[in-house]
Amino acid sequence: METQISELDELLVELIERVAGELGVIIYSLGIEGEFTDEQLSQELGVEINDVRRVLFALYEIGLASYRRTRDEETGWMEYYWKISYDRERDVLRKELEKTREKLDAKLEIEDGSVYYICVNGCVKVSYEEAMEFGFSCPKCRDMLEFLDSSGAIEQIREELEKINRLIGLLS
Ligand SMILES: [Zn+2]
Repeated sequence: METQISELDELLVELIERVAGELGVIIYSLGIEGEFTDEQLSQELGVEINDVRRVLFALYEIGLASYRRTRDEETGWMEYYWKISYDRERDVLRKELEKTREKLDAKLEIEDGSVYYICVNGCVKVSYEEAMEFGFSCPKCRDMLEFLDSSGAIEQIREELEKINRLIGLLS
């Protein structure tokens, strides 16, 4: 059970790092409860306020942060009150995994349904029909076009899909 939890934790950290960078991981792992302003956080961490804002909006984009805005009566400026949505972790992870699964499904369909030829020098990857048109020689370097065995790639996609389905299962 513990390994499953840490696997999901790892996935979450990966996701946050990808969209919000290292600072995103740091801010998220602070475990801040309740509302705060970007200015407070910037002062507390000693980080540029623009960097803090970029992180918070990135977290907001994937659903891991929310905010409410109010206009400061005196200055007329918009104030953002942020909140990290720790309770949405599982939903966000599941959504991301489902997105990845869709991409892999599409990739699998393409790989599975067609035969490819590649240039021995790596210039092009073409369909069987195109390879025929080119007389099985590369349109760029004129060297030979070779049949591409994609069973390894397909196997790899299948394995990734299995893993993702397992992780989605853990989140459902
Ligand atoms: Zn070539």
